[in-house]
Amino acid sequence: MDNCIFCKIAAKQIPAKLIHEDDDLLAFHDINPAAPVHFLIVPKKHIATLADCTTEDQALLGKMSLLAPKLAAQLGCGYNVEGDGKGGFKTLFNIGPDGGQEVYHLHMHVIGGPRPWGRSL
Ligand code: 5GP
Ligand code: ZN
Repeated sequence: MDNCIFCKIAAKQIPAKLIHEDDDLLAFHDINPAAPVHFLIVPKKHIATLADCTTEDQALLGKMSLLAPKLAAQLGCGYNVEGDGKGGFKTLFNIGPDGGQEVYHLHMHVIGGPRPWGRSL
């Protein structure tokens, strides 16, 4: 999509601090982090919002969800139910203006790190 910032990141036309890339997904650090760890999981395919996803996107959404804890663990904010009871993170989709969505290319926020965080969510 022309003029979509996350399509441009996916096409390497603008830089981002990449954490992960595969055939379907990118993950990169949020440019304005809300917490010590704040990254975005973004499909390479342009979909405007979660509300625009269809059953065709089920596998993609599942892949995004499974990637979140894996990358959170790599970045030091993972959680394991059999672990020390510490850690953890939040995943979030903003949808539409009342959902606070600013970039209309589907993305999952993954937010974590030791509390308190700088900005409330
Ligand atoms: P939304 O409010 O749409 O759910 O969140 C968009 C997020 O994308 C915001 O947290 C914002 O800081 C982040 N963001 C916007 N533009 C860029 C960019 O060019 N690069 C990166 N890495 N993050 C961006
Ligand atoms: Zn896009």
